[in-house]
Amino acid sequence: MSSRTPLMAGNWKMNLNHLEAIAHVQKLAFALSDKDYEAVEVAVLPPFTDLRSVQTLVDGDKLKIAYGAQDISAHDGGAYTGEISGPMLAKLKCSYVAIGHSERRQYHGEDEEIVGAKVKAAYKHGITPILCVGEGLDVRKAGNQVEHTLAQLDGALKDVPAEQAESIVIAYEPVWAIGTGEVATPEDAQEVCGAIRGRLAELYDQELADKVRIQYGGSVKSGNVAAIMAQPDVDGALVGGAALDADEFVKIVRFRD
Ligand code: PEP
Repeated sequence: MSSRTPLMAGNWKMNLNHLEAIAHVQKLAFALSDKDYEAVEVAVLPPFTDLRSVQTLVDGDKLKIAYGAQDISAHDGGAYTGEISGPMLAKLKCSYVAIGHSERRQYHGEDEEIVGAKVKAAYKHGITPILCVGEGLDVRKAGNQVEHTLAQLDGALKDVPAEQAESIVIAYEPVWAIGTGEVATPEDAQEVCGAIRGRLAELYDQELADKVRIQYGGSVKSGNVAAIMAQPDVDGALVGGAALDADEFVKIVRFRD
C-alpha cells in the first residue's frame, strides 16, 4: 500500500458566498471525525471572498480541514487589477492553491508559461500548488492524452527544483469529464496518473515521484470514487460539483466505507 495520504479537495469554483462558506465548513466539521482525518487529508478551495471567513473558523475551532485558493497571481503585488497575490494568500494561511485549472486555461488563456510562473509564485510564499493538467475531448479522441498531459506537466515544472517539486500535488483532470457527468474509467485515470508519476521520476527521481500525490478530478461522486481511488497511482480527488453538497463530500471523503 502506498504511504501517500490521499488528499480529497473540494473546488467550490464560483459558488457559495462567505456566509454560505461558514455554514458549509461547519457542516463538514460536524460530520467528520478524527478517524476520517487519520485516513485522508480534507481540503476546501473556496472563492477568494470566503477565505478570511474560512480561516477564522478553522483557526478558531482548530479544525483539521485544510483550505486554499483557486488561483494565485504570478506577481507579488502592483498594478494587476483583480488579481490576488501569494503574500495575500500566505497571510490568510492558505495551505494550497489550484493552478492551471482547465477553466482558467479556457476562459483566461492561461498557458504553460503563466502556469509555471504561478507554480513558482506559490512556492515562493510557502503555498502548495495543486497543479491541474489534463486533455480535452479532441486530444482524447486522437489517443494523445498522455503526451498532451505530460507536455503540460513539463511546462509547469520547468526550473522547479526537487526540494519544491516533492511537495506538489498534481490533479489529473480530463477536461471532457469536468462538470459533464462523464467520468473517466478507473483505467483511464490510472493510465495518465501512472504516466505522470513516470515523468516525475524522469524529471527528478523515483523517490520524489513516489512521494507526490496525484489526484483525479472530473465528475467524482460518492458512487464512483472508490473504484478510482483503488488505482495505484491515484492519491486523491479534486471534486467540483459534488463538493458543494456537504453530505455528498463527506461520503467522498469516506470512500473506503
Ligand atoms: C473541478 O472543478 O476540478 C471538477 C473536477 O469539477 P466536477 O467534479 O464538477 O467535474
